[in-house]
Amino acid sequence: MNTCPEHIVLLMHDYLDEEISHENEKELKAHLQSCEACKTHFHELKKTVALVQSTSHIQAPSNFTQNVMAKLPKEKKRAGVERWFH
Ligand SMILES: [Zn+2]
Repeated sequence: MNTCPEHIVLLMHDYLDEEISHENEKELKAHLQSCEACKTHFHELKKTVALVQSTSHIQAPSNFTQNVMAKLPKEKKRAGVERWFH
């Protein structure tokens, strides 16, 4: 049985977006302390967000494009370069 207020889930998203108000954050944390289901859901959300952030922060090394071009077979080089820059 789920008796959680619907907006608690919205607060979780606001919190992870760092767009939560101080009042709402207090409410969210109070609910999480008393509700195992929401705590679990919140941890899953946090893990997902952390994963997305860790992959989106990976940047290609500065010579990445050159390395890619060097690995292209000669006859495909021109097409490959064009695909890369357009
Ligand atoms: Zn709950």
